[in-house]
Amino acid sequence: MMIAHKKICRFCENRIFYIDYKDDRLLHRFITEEGKIIPRRISGTCAQHQRQLVKAIKRARHMAILPFVLEIVR
Ligand SMILES: [Zn+2]
Repeated sequence: MMIAHKKICRFCENRIFYIDYKDDRLLHRFITEEGKIIPRRISGTCAQHQRQLVKAIKRARHMAILPFVLEIVR
């Protein structure tokens, strides 16, 4: 489980306007060990970016970039 220390939208902070579904490293930070999307209230992502994120993650799963059930690779 990911623990957010501060409730600042990571995307706004880094001025990311487009979330690339091929950026699996980034997307991995917003999904739990079970492969679920981390809720906004926990990740601190703003509504606008969360919408984009959900889209990107769903697309990535569809393209088999992200597995539906994840294993932590580290
Ligand atoms: Zn944002």
